[in-house]
Amino acid sequence: MGGDLPKYVYLLEEGAASMRDLLGGKGAGLAEMTRLGLPVPPGFTITTKACVAYGRKGRFPPGMSAQVEEGLAAIEARAGRTFGDPANPLLVSVRSGAKFSMPGMMDTVLNIGLNDETVRGLADRTGNERFAWDSYRRLIAMFGRIVHDVNGRAFEDILERVKGDRKDADLNPDELKDVVRAFKDLYQTGVARDFPQSPKEQLREAIGAVFRSWNRKRAVDYRTFHKIPHDLGTAANVQAMVFGNMGPDSGTGVAFTRDPSTGAKGIFGEYLANAQGEDVVAGTRNPLKISQLRATHPDLYEQLVRGARLLEEHYRDMQDIEFTVEQGKLWMLQTRAGKRAARAAVAIAVDMARSGLLTEEEAVLRVEPSHVVQLLLPQFDETAKEAARREDRYLATGLNASPGAATGYVVFDPDEAERLGKVEKKPVVLVRVETSPDDVHGILHSKGILTSRGGATSHAAVVTRGLGLPCVAGCEAIHVDYDAGAFTVGDKVVRRGEFLSIDGSTGEVFAGRIPTIDPDYEREEDLQTLLGWADEARRLEVWANADYPRDAIRARAFGAQGIGLCRTEHMFFEMDRLPVVHDMILAAPGYRRVAGQTKILRADLEAAKGERRAELAKRLETLEAQGADLSRRYLGSLEKLGALQREDFTGILRAMDGLPVIIRLIDPPLHEFLPNYESLLVQVTKLSMAREDARLLVRTARSEEDHKFVEEVERAGGGDLAKGVEVLLAKTEFFLEAVRAMREANPMLGLRGCRLGIVFPEITEMQVRAIFEAACRLKRDGVDVQPEIMIPLVGHVNELKVAREALEAVAKRVMEREGVRVAYKFGTMIEIPRAALTADEIARHAEFFSFGTNDLTQTTAGYSRDDAEPKFLLDYVDRGILPFNPFQTIDREGVGQLMRMCVQKGRRVRPDLELGICGEHGGDPDSIAFCHEAGLDYVSCSPFRVPVARLAAAHAKLGSELSRVEDR
Ligand code: ADP
Ligand code: MG
Ligand code: MG
Repeated sequence: MGGDLPKYVYLLEEGAASMRDLLGGKGAGLAEMTRLGLPVPPGFTITTKACVAYGRKGRFPPGMSAQVEEGLAAIEARAGRTFGDPANPLLVSVRSGAKFSMPGMMDTVLNIGLNDETVRGLADRTGNERFAWDSYRRLIAMFGRIVHDVNGRAFEDILERVKGDRKDADLNPDELKDVVRAFKDLYQTGVARDFPQSPKEQLREAIGAVFRSWNRKRAVDYRTFHKIPHDLGTAANVQAMVFGNMGPDSGTGVAFTRDPSTGAKGIFGEYLANAQGEDVVAGTRNPLKISQLRATHPDLYEQLVRGARLLEEHYRDMQDIEFTVEQGKLWMLQTRAGKRAARAAVAIAVDMARSGLLTEEEAVLRVEPSHVVQLLLPQFDETAKEAARREDRYLATGLNASPGAATGYVVFDPDEAERLGKVEKKPVVLVRVETSPDDVHGILHSKGILTSRGGATSHAAVVTRGLGLPCVAGCEAIHVDYDAGAFTVGDKVVRRGEFLSIDGSTGEVFAGRIPTIDPDYEREEDLQTLLGWADEARRLEVWANADYPRDAIRARAFGAQGIGLCRTEHMFFEMDRLPVVHDMILAAPGYRRVAGQTKILRADLEAAKGERRAELAKRLETLEAQGADLSRRYLGSLEKLGALQREDFTGILRAMDGLPVIIRLIDPPLHEFLPNYESLLVQVTKLSMAREDARLLVRTARSEEDHKFVEEVERAGGGDLAKGVEVLLAKTEFFLEAVRAMREANPMLGLRGCRLGIVFPEITEMQVRAIFEAACRLKRDGVDVQPEIMIPLVGHVNELKVAREALEAVAKRVMEREGVRVAYKFGTMIEIPRAALTADEIARHAEFFSFGTNDLTQTTAGYSRDDAEPKFLLDYVDRGILPFNPFQTIDREGVGQLMRMCVQKGRRVRPDLELGICGEHGGDPDSIAFCHEAGLDYVSCSPFRVPVARLAAAHAKLGSELSRVEDR
């Protein structure tokens, strides 16, 4: 065909499944079905290249039209009909079809070739006048709408008028002729030209329209959203028409080769008798279930089942098929990989591997990490969600801070949440303006959290992600009124005790109850099988971040191979420990000062003589008395905490018997454990004002918080409010002063991490003592303990050296005392660029590195996450200034480059250096792929992400990048 000119037209017999780039998905599928010998109406495909050329020049490329003529001749020959022949007319469809399916985005025109003469020929030949005129009116409407943008509604209005309350099929030929006449008038008015009577012109215009639909706004937007390149173009398929609207033994349908929501084997779909193409999708009439065909049309059903099986086995994937039945004969019109729910994706992959259709590795690649995420979250029943929308129960959309669905009673008070959730076992959704560490007991017993303020790193978001609890944060459309016990959205009010449903995956909030479907990993047998195969394929280990034994146990059940981050400070926050922690922190600076002064004084004393000596001795005595008091409070509190921490570590080390546990020493600045400065200031002011008249407190109390405060004052005075004011004022003033002294201008870069342990070594020494006491005793009981001590926020090698020397000495002392030796490691977190740059020096003193990619991203990019995300970062992403949020996916060029350098330098000095990542990125599939490439040993993520990470790590190894693009 076409001499030396490029080949723009491929007959269906000439194409193949592998030619998607050129023929588009639909064209390649039609060609492949033709090759397989399935009944496909004859046709040809005009390539995506022709579309691209048309887009550039505004006209068909040279040679294309001649090739189309030849293609048409080939169809005529196969069909035994002639395009435009009034005696025996050939009709065709022109169908768009790009490489990646873009449902509903582009266009198709059916019945091309009908005009005032051929319509009569069609009627004569088929002996079915009604059918012929019905097809003609469809052509005029579709052509007008798609090729010339005539308003489709206007055509429907005409049809409705003629129909009255009858059905399409009830129209007689004369009425249809009237419809055609009216459609032509409408066309003439809209287009300012008559409906083209030349079939060739119809064809040419339809092809142009299909090509142009590639660059229509909605198609462009769709591609931008789905990251599909804009320069691919669409193919145009020209295919002989077959008719499902020729009477009761004709029809049209869509079918999946399996149930797309469960993956169960067996053909699944819908069939509409006496209908053409888009009627099924349009939903104007109630279709039959395909399974019903078994009884009514057994032959047809049998043929369909055979075709479906053939296609599924050939493509080695579940297919989504379009077909039409013309007077009892089956025609296949489309096949493509079927979209499926998460559960179906897993079930199908496992089943196909078991039956030998796929290798286990291929099966692993067929399931997306996002499928696994979905499977392990509670989800709303979609139909119930739709119903809620119809019932006008949709309220607002906030930030999808932590995925999953939750439904429960609205509660505003964390104490009430705890009571209802824990004691009464009722489902509650806790609604707060914002949450704080004081609310955690309530959060723990809620099904979900809704806040009106705060971003992706707000307390609510971070805590719920760690817990795997659904959360919608920063939902600014809602106004929370604690005192009224209600929140409002516009003019809607939701009160305490009413039901609320939130979807943390989408950020949607609904009034009332929407049933959820609960996940259960133990019961997900297919998923477990698949992840077992993933484990065999991957190189990267998957560890988990867990602070408590129960998290560690869960992580293990999910397949974690170690704990990559056990944060010790969370243990300090527990309600019963907080007073001890406060005591310790308040005494710490004084203890340190007095200890320093005492040391100097002792030295001075040694050198002094006579009167001076006596004076110094006296001063030393006072100082020592002060020191004794401070030391009792500081060291005494530490000792109490040490005993509690020993229990914490015992629990987690026992749960991880046989696996490594990385315990990070205290990291946040101490003032984070104290009440907030502003609220203390308010309390001091109130109490000072109430010294004259204590009832003032009661009279001015408005909010829930105010009332609680009054109760607290009363309690402090043993029931006497005035006394309480005095007692609490003294205490609060002292607190305020302590907090003021510890306040920092930029806590993120202040006294925290290893700096804390260097300034207050007693704290970290207590922690290490607790770890080794727990480890030694467990080992004696036969538990295989593998503690690894992690020193955070190191920037200079000397920080690590100093800290490690002191702490390792403590460890050795404990082991000696206990008479047990445990294998242990000391290492550091890499979260400051300087540490990454000097990794060779640091590796001399560290057996492991763990990339703290949250902080490493903050310090590398110079973003304070809590300030950046709400104020500009998400906006940057929105405007394309940043390609994605670097706190969600590792910034390979920046942070990633530092990591690679660090890996290289570290391993050069210490080849067996253990390398991992413990930031939130550890659960992100793209970041996991990077960690694999960078040669890390493991990723550590939240327990709930472990199954996802196992799959993502396997994908990284198996080179999923390619398959992920192909699957779209
Ligand atoms: P979409 O991509 O929107 O599904 P299609 O090109 O598949 O568009 O066509 C729309 C409808 O028309 C489908 O139901 C299809 O099966 C039907 N159709 C397309 N071409 C023909 C044809 N030659 N004969 C009969 N029906 C057709
Ligand atoms: Mg289709
Ligand atoms: Mg950090």
